[in-house]
Amino acid sequence: MLLFLLLPFLGLMKVTIIGGGVAGLAAGCYLQMSGFETIICERGLTAGGLCTSWKKGAYTFESGFQWLMGSGPANPFYKLWSEILDMDSITFVNHEVRMDIEVRTHADPRGNKIFHLYANLDRLRSYLLEISPEDRLPVESLIRSMRKIQSFEIPPEIRSVPELIPPLRKIKFIKHLPLLFFLKGYKKETNFTFARKLKSPFLCEAFELLFDGEEQPLMIITIPLAFNDLQATGYPIGGASAMVNKMRDRYVELGGNIRYRSGVTKILTEKNRATGVELETRERVLSDYVISVADWHFTMLQALEGKYLSKKMIALKEEKDLKIYPSVIIVSLGISRKLDQEAHFIRFPLSSELVSPDGTVYHHLESHIYNYDPTLAPAGKTVVSFSFYTEHGDYWISLRKTDREAYDRNKTEFSEKVIDLAEKIYGNIRACIEEADVATPATFHRYTNNYRGSVQGWMPGKNIIAQSPVKLTVPGLSNFYFAGHWTIPGGGLPVAIKSARDAVQMLCDEAGTPFRSFSP
Ligand SMILES: Cc1cc2nc3c(=O)[nH]c(=O)nc-3n(C[C@H](O)[C@H](O)[C@H](O)COP(=O)(O)OP(=O)(O)OC[C@H]3O[C@@H](n4cnc5c(N)ncnc54)[C@H](O)[C@@H]3O)c2cc1C
Repeated sequence: MLLFLLLPFLGLMKVTIIGGGVAGLAAGCYLQMSGFETIICERGLTAGGLCTSWKKGAYTFESGFQWLMGSGPANPFYKLWSEILDMDSITFVNHEVRMDIEVRTHADPRGNKIFHLYANLDRLRSYLLEISPEDRLPVESLIRSMRKIQSFEIPPEIRSVPELIPPLRKIKFIKHLPLLFFLKGYKKETNFTFARKLKSPFLCEAFELLFDGEEQPLMIITIPLAFNDLQATGYPIGGASAMVNKMRDRYVELGGNIRYRSGVTKILTEKNRATGVELETRERVLSDYVISVADWHFTMLQALEGKYLSKKMIALKEEKDLKIYPSVIIVSLGISRKLDQEAHFIRFPLSSELVSPDGTVYHHLESHIYNYDPTLAPAGKTVVSFSFYTEHGDYWISLRKTDREAYDRNKTEFSEKVIDLAEKIYGNIRACIEEADVATPATFHRYTNNYRGSVQGWMPGKNIIAQSPVKLTVPGLSNFYFAGHWTIPGGGLPVAIKSARDAVQMLCDEAGTPFRSFSP
């Protein structure tokens, strides 16, 4: 028994991790801290997966990363990020205004058509009341709900793994019942139901446009906004790559080994126990455990050849349970202008609809002006990007495969239309373009293998607080764990790190070795 407990510390228990995104790096760090010998097999040339940036000339283009839940101590995720990263070494920008929306039809009493969603709750309250004093009741209730959110631990008991908590200790979760009751009541409030409570036509229209004209639970925006007010959902200066590179360095410092250009094709099993992986080169990497933090469809249907599909998984595969989170087209420009007076994130209404080559119709232009991150562009110049979410990722993926010329032509034609629109809105854009780049769902798919180029895994279902149907273990297969953004609908970086940490705790429990975590 003693020898078994010592095995991980002698470097004898090996774990193969499929994928070097944020979840893979986090899993690798926690395993190394807990004394395992790990190898990350990453099919690409760099770590980070979807959380990435890329260089073009003197500019760095961002994959779209806007905020990190837990960038400051007021949110529990900070505890997890601090175990992996020296958070003091990263400068986070907490924007004063979360986003701006140009409202098409109405204007505020001063004739302004731009709605500011302030991140500071006191500021937001006085701004909304100044526009519409007669909306005091709904405005006060909105602010109160966000203050309430701030008073809760969200998520509760972040370091615990529900599956590992003995039944009696679950009693301590009783103290979080008020949060559950609050969320149960609050989940029904959408941006549309809230908008209908407002008398001001300007505010009503603005709230309807919060999610690009779609009806969504209001908490999708009020939870991050509540923590924004507490400086806990910031953007890291240097962008996604700066943060991911620090995670990669920590993993390597802890003794971890990343193999790039090492795409996994198969998870090896023996008597329903994972024993390693096979790479595209047919090389076999053998280990005591395997963790996949790669795409769910790839892991369950290809790497495990569909052998371990439960009824719930079949429902997922057939998209009966949850939809796939859309992919995105991002047109990025390196502009030889400062643009420092422009809003950093704003949605403009379009006078006529913009149709993408995949058939998606857009009524708004969403622009990100990275004038707050001087590391992305040379002095006096700025990175600007325009994003277009699409459910037709397959169109781009298959076009790139079957007709490269048409794919390139589509990209160019679409970006030209976008540049024309930017020219109309900002003026003097086209002549200042020094670098341009168009990332499509095929780009996200090619670099990360996410199904249909999805950028956050599954879409949350109607019941936004329902338990996830995806588990970190696979019924019938031992010595195997699944983590990453496909484990909880809505995905994102918090899900990536939390699922990785939980999976490692479960693995440690199975291996009979203590889970360890310590800050750099
Ligand atoms: C435009 C955009 C904006 C976003 N904005 C935010 C934001 O503001 N805040 C936020 O929290 N989240 C945001 N996200 C989402 C967030 O980036 C992702 O949810 C998160 O990075 C997912 O991490 P992951 O490690 O789970 O998965 P991935 O990033 O998909 O990593 C999986 C890794 O596995 C590798 N891999 C796949 N298949 C194989 C294989 N067969 N063999 C070996 N390796 C393999 C891939 O190459 C990849 O590196 C955004 C995403 C995008 C694209």
